[in-house]
Amino acid sequence: MATSQLQSALASEQDKLLACVHCGLCLEACPTYIHTGDENDSPRGRLYLMRAVEEGRLAPESNAFRQHINRCLGCRACESVCPAGVEYGQLLEAARADLNQTPERQRSLRSALLHFTLRHIWLHPMRLRFAFALARLLRNVRLPRLLIKSRLARLVSPRLEFALALLDSSLSTRRSKHEKNTQAAPSFAGEKALLFTGCVMQGLFARVNRATARVLEANGCAVLTPSAQVCCGALHAHAGDLEGARQLARRNIDAFSGEADAKIITNAGGCGALLASYKNLLENDAEYSERARDFSARVRDISQQLEKTGVRQGAKLDECVTTYDASCHLLYGQHAVNAPLEMLRAIPGLRFVPLEGSEGCCGGAGVYNLLEPEMSSRILNEKLAHIKEIGAQTLTTGNPGCHMQIGAGAQLNGMEHLRVCHPVELLDESYTSAGFYEKEAGQ
Ligand code: SF4
Ligand code: SF4
Repeated sequence: MATSQLQSALASEQDKLLACVHCGLCLEACPTYIHTGDENDSPRGRLYLMRAVEEGRLAPESNAFRQHINRCLGCRACESVCPAGVEYGQLLEAARADLNQTPERQRSLRSALLHFTLRHIWLHPMRLRFAFALARLLRNVRLPRLLIKSRLARLVSPRLEFALALLDSSLSTRRSKHEKNTQAAPSFAGEKALLFTGCVMQGLFARVNRATARVLEANGCAVLTPSAQVCCGALHAHAGDLEGARQLARRNIDAFSGEADAKIITNAGGCGALLASYKNLLENDAEYSERARDFSARVRDISQQLEKTGVRQGAKLDECVTTYDASCHLLYGQHAVNAPLEMLRAIPGLRFVPLEGSEGCCGGAGVYNLLEPEMSSRILNEKLAHIKEIGAQTLTTGNPGCHMQIGAGAQLNGMEHLRVCHPVELLDESYTSAGFYEKEAGQ
């Protein structure tokens, strides 16, 4: 076998990537191992398979390798418990890059469709904007909801029904009073913050980006949004298209080079984790490696930025029982443990109830829910059961993929009352109630 992405990743980070001491501490942290009980569906088992491929004992196109690597959620929960510091996330991306080298004729239809979409739509900002505009149009005229309610979608295929529910769940059930004015509040002359808007966030959740800008400004930041920015490349990296991810990374590094000292603020756990690892993605790029290190060091989630600057208290919200579900990439990729909860604590009187298993994956994992629907729905059902147990009426989460996964699951499982939103949306509503924006706009 020619030197593969997997081999080069192992070769360049051999100390860390082959540091597994086979202790098995990661097994009980792994959702797929918990559900199947199969060692090959555990982090340790997958590392064995990767080593077998790297040493030439197993073909990367073998069923065993494909099945168990594809079944990994990429949640990185295993990294957080590994005493040897195995950087599993990077190794997984390299393993998927190996799978990605399989000739197109040997790929499943789903996999071929995913790679076509990532290559021919996601890498082209104009085409991507058009695709999201079309998706928004269908969503806003409530076509997905109609097809679900009429049971037509289910008749065609349960997977189509779930895909439509994902799109439908991105629609806000509530409109912030401040949304009448789509402009952010006027800037303070404080610390500059560069907002990373993301493709799914900007395409389906632009309201969250606007809320993020307003909340940052209410906390003393001057917000700028570089116009040349593109998708972060997370979907490409997770699907093994590392070259596609690198192309996007270089464009973002250029787009954010204007204000070299300003922090880069994200509100999507999946984007933030990849932006923070551009340094690994481009470590062998002679032109960009140093710039990628600087870029990654500037990335912060909105919650981490507010934790650093101190978050301003808002006004009491008349909110129902509220909980929080951690995005895996925000928790394990960016290590934001308490920061998102601090945002919620800045809302006086919030009826917050902790969610059991909030640190576990929801089964969304990018497009995992469409590619591995059976495992995804087992994991999702467990999450929904925990939400039901505490009687939550509002669930907050810091990643659009988790938002859509839990929202779709709720809609299809008789939990339509559940409002899903980003913590920054609640904080923005609390600031609106406090009258911060009117006061500041009048200054
Ligand atoms: S916890 Fe780390 S060292 Fe232990 S088996 Fe898992 S990957 Fe290997
Ligand atoms: S990334 Fe998640 S699903 Fe994959 S091996 Fe690690 S814990 Fe298991």
